[in-house]
Amino acid sequence: TSYMFCLSYLLGMTAAELRWRKSVLIRRRVWCYFEDLIVWLHIYQWMTEIQNSNSELVTQHYLGNTVENRPMYYLQISQPLDKTKKIIWMDCGIHAREWIAPAFCQWFVKEILQNYKSDPNISRFLQNLDLYILPVLNIDGYIYSWEKDRLWRKNRSPYMNGTCYGTDLNRNFNSSWGSIGVSYNCSSIIFCGSGPESEPETKAVAQLIEKKKSDILCYLTIHSYGQYILIPYGSTTEPASNSEELMYVAEKAAAALMQKYGTSYEVGSTSLILYSNSGSSRDWAHMIGIPFSYTFELRDKGTHGFVLPPDQIQPTCEETMLAVTTIIDYVDHKYFPGGAVMLSSTSVLLQPTSEGLRHSLK
Ligand SMILES: [Zn+2]
Repeated sequence: TSYMFCLSYLLGMTAAELRWRKSVLIRRRVWCYFEDLIVWLHIYQWMTEIQNSNSELVTQHYLGNTVENRPMYYLQISQPLDKTKKIIWMDCGIHAREWIAPAFCQWFVKEILQNYKSDPNISRFLQNLDLYILPVLNIDGYIYSWEKDRLWRKNRSPYMNGTCYGTDLNRNFNSSWGSIGVSYNCSSIIFCGSGPESEPETKAVAQLIEKKKSDILCYLTIHSYGQYILIPYGSTTEPASNSEELMYVAEKAAAALMQKYGTSYEVGSTSLILYSNSGSSRDWAHMIGIPFSYTFELRDKGTHGFVLPPDQIQPTCEETMLAVTTIIDYVDHKYFPGGAVMLSSTSVLLQPTSEGLRHSLK
């Protein structure tokens, strides 16, 4: 489709290549052609289009502004049912150079919208769960990685009178902030900022999550690369309270992923199988009480690293979709064992029968 064509064009190319390709894109009248390589505008436009063409299911919400004053939005995919639902959160692109991550968030939304009527699992979990998707968390850094430095990782906040730029947003959350696997030097790629949530991007996400935390069952944050599904914690080797269940679900997800193309993922606690880090969003989400919190590190294992070739975008998205929906299915069945029946005793029964639906629709 033109969408995949567009996506494969946009990913895995340097800014110089893109400038050269621009003429090709214009000649072929690809709809995703964008002015002056402002990739965020492309995603912004995509969000608006998705919302307009699926207005019964998708709404777009303002989250806050970035350091360079760009508005941050997330998409909410929500069946209009007259009941309180729980929430699955997923963010992509907290690290600028990990371009496959925003591609996956977009793919995920596209797949849900295409298949929610025909796929029994998706239609089941959408009865109980709302999906909150933030396609690009670190917009300034993402654009910078397109325009100036392909391997830029951090946000773009100036430090030391503008002689030094960027905080690692995944070291900036308020979870054992600054204690391990960070630097206090702004020129480091793991600079943790001047304090917990010192960065507006971190603050915007943290405020929303904090506000909704009693309803959020699952926090997913998508990175690359390395092929890992990571569970808390990064800041300590002490296991999370529910680590056995976290591992069980992650292993199920990795097995589902592998069935598609044989891609092998390692599963485990961040500090034990990857490295120690403090101030990560995954640790923070679990520490404030969100039971299922995972970091995905998508393809590959280092051959291409952050610059994943375009021909791997689609297979990576397809296999990751299987892993992510496995996790959501598990959470759905755990908290809503009776199908679309709510756990709360005061709630109204909402069986997906015509009888139930008739009563649930306003
Ligand atoms: Zn990352």
